[in-house]
Amino acid sequence: MSSGARSGPRIVTNTVEFPYRRSLGPVIGTFVAALARGQILGVRSGERVLCPPLEYDPDTGAATSGEFVAVGPVGTVRSWTWVSEPNARHPLDRPFAFALIQLDGAGTSLLHAVDAGGEGEGAMRTGLRVVPRFRAEPKGRTDDLAYFVPEGAETTDPGVVDGATLAAVGGEPRAPLEPVETMEFWSSLTYKEALSAASERYARSLLAGRLLGQRCPTCAKVYVPPRDFCAIDGIPLNEGDDLALPDRGVITNFTIVTPVKYPGQKETEPFVRVSVLLDEVDAPVGQRAGENDLPSPARRPGSEGAEGQRTGENDLPSPVRQPGSEGTEGQRTGENDLPSPVRQPGSEGAMMGLQPVVDVSNEEVRVGMRVEAVWLPEAERNADELGNRGWGSASGAITGWRPTGEPDLPVERYIDRVF
Ligand SMILES: [Zn+2]
Repeated sequence: MSSGARSGPRIVTNTVEFPYRRSLGPVIGTFVAALARGQILGVRSGERVLCPPLEYDPDTGAATSGEFVAVGPVGTVRSWTWVSEPNARHPLDRPFAFALIQLDGAGTSLLHAVDAGGEGEGAMRTGLRVVPRFRAEPKGRTDDLAYFVPEGAETTDPGVVDGATLAAVGGEPRAPLEPVETMEFWSSLTYKEALSAASERYARSLLAGRLLGQRCPTCAKVYVPPRDFCAIDGIPLNEGDDLALPDRGVITNFTIVTPVKYPGQKETEPFVRVSVLLDEVDAPVGQRAGENDLPSPARRPGSEGAEGQRTGENDLPSPVRQPGSEGTEGQRTGENDLPSPVRQPGSEGAMMGLQPVVDVSNEEVRVGMRVEAVWLPEAERNADELGNRGWGSASGAITGWRPTGEPDLPVERYIDRVF
């Protein structure tokens, strides 16, 4: 993914890609097998030869003969269109033509690419005589036939050869053609979307080294990242509901993932992903979104300061509630710069799912472990991986979460905080 200019809405580009395998059948399978020998085959159907060969005649629906006929190698461009800006999925990485090419001896045309050489589009015309170029190292795929070039053109591409050169490799005589049975394809879909206003605020915040959440004024649930709506109450939220979140919390759940091999998998060793319940936000860290519009934690008469912490007295949040101290650990903004992990009545902590950990082995990770975010240096942060969906990915800004070394919090407290 990549991000667009900072002025307008940030545009993110997503690519969904997956492989699939298809069987080729006896006709296309034989056609593909011949390509590896630098030969293009058609199939006879009545009076004419079809190339590309088909199992059924497209005009009559009758089965074709199964009699293969070598066609070309020279062919004639019957129609063409110019591609001036090829994308990653095109057969050539330079401007080229898609063309319908009728190979000598064939009655139908093959759709393929033409590398027109230095002259580019100016060299293309209907009636142009072209010859094929094959992959020097064929793989048993349709694209072993790489592209066509104008007849007589020099080829400087080291990865391709003409048919005669490929046919000579391995010498004669050659084994009978065995049809290629299956072929791997890549399916790829690229789409762009504008980051929502909430996602944009989250991206800006991450780049500045801060976690941003959003608190529903009705149910007090804190979402990270902000979404500009509460899914529980079905109400819109806005920037005024944003709040800065502490980058410390507690592991409430974890999964050790043993990588299985699949396309795109980069991990080779078991790795852990954790859910982090961020510390309470009643004492905002770093940045405040607007003025403090959060409800004060519940305080009880007579409890003023009883177990409160003051900045400087204690650098750690107080993780343990003492019997009889119910509600006496309340903190007021300004009294203490650190968030308290003690849940306040009516307040829901913000959860970040599927987070990586650093500086800790898989075996050491446990529920109740206190962790803090490890931020990338500001110059190395990016928001390229952010989209409008997800559980609060901070990749590109946070490398992972490391143990703070503080005492664990009681596991029992997180039994119902799986995710
Ligand atoms: Zn709500």
